[in-house]
Amino acid sequence: MNIICKIRGHKWRDGYCSRCGSEHQGHEWAPQPGICVEKCVICNMSKEVEHSFSPRGNCEYVCTNCGKQIVRHKLVPKGNCIAVCVNCGVEKADHKWNAVKKSNGTVKAGCKCTVCGADNPEGEHIPTVRMHVSGTAFLVCSVCGLTLRELSRDEVARYTASHPQHPAE
Ligand SMILES: [Zn+2]
Ligand SMILES: [Zn+2]
Ligand SMILES: [Zn+2]
Ligand SMILES: [Zn+2]
Ligand SMILES: [Zn+2]
Ligand SMILES: [Zn+2]
Repeated sequence: MNIICKIRGHKWRDGYCSRCGSEHQGHEWAPQPGICVEKCVICNMSKEVEHSFSPRGNCEYVCTNCGKQIVRHKLVPKGNCIAVCVNCGVEKADHKWNAVKKSNGTVKAGCKCTVCGADNPEGEHIPTVRMHVSGTAFLVCSVCGLTLRELSRDEVARYTASHPQHPAE
């Protein structure tokens, strides 16, 4: 311990003594008006505390202390892939997309949900580039994961040039 700290006591700041680096033990937390944060009255360290949410309208909650707003739905399943909120009626869908095969084995444009049979609302496959460590790249559907085709060397080069930070998978 620093000799000055021994005589005059520690100089607490944000949880530590700014002179000797000791950690402040036994914080005395005091609530702060208008924010959901408490501060130690001795060392001034702050910590977040739980918001006190109270309902305001359908599925909306507001913190009576700091004013933070959140939305919390009460979802119940409706059909296979749809859940509906009993309070406000909003619908959330969670489909298991898969590529649709034609009877002759070729793949049709578009993805279908394997659970409920719904069509991808976007209609067609949504292509995204997937890089491989080997340097090859494929165009895959970001919805159902179907490999649409392999990219040529030129296309790979163009893609890596425009996405330099994209890590190889
Ligand atoms: Zn000290
Ligand atoms: Zn403290
Ligand atoms: Zn709050
Ligand atoms: Zn709701
Ligand atoms: Zn579905
Ligand atoms: Zn697809």
